[in-house]
Amino acid sequence: MRRALRSRSLKKMQVRLPSGKTVVHIKKRRPSAAKCGRCGAKLNRARLRKTQLAKLPKTKKRPERSLPEFCPKCMREVLKERVRA
Ligand SMILES: [Zn+2]
Repeated sequence: MRRALRSRSLKKMQVRLPSGKTVVHIKKRRPSAAKCGRCGAKLNRARLRKTQLAKLPKTKKRPERSLPEFCPKCMREVLKERVRA
């Protein structure tokens, strides 16, 4: 195995080949989930690498409402603050 591939930050996958032999494939790990910019809650958003995200339609990448960078709870509060300010 190449020295650069021995890193623990890479994910090792056991892959069975059609011949029955099992080999190790090395992949990058899944990126961490997107978080709310205000409270840090996990957002309901595609958790993929950039190259994979580019293959998805825009509507599947983020919620189709205003302020997609916040969770729904924070969005309501921010909108209220903006209206009242
Ligand atoms: Zn939030």
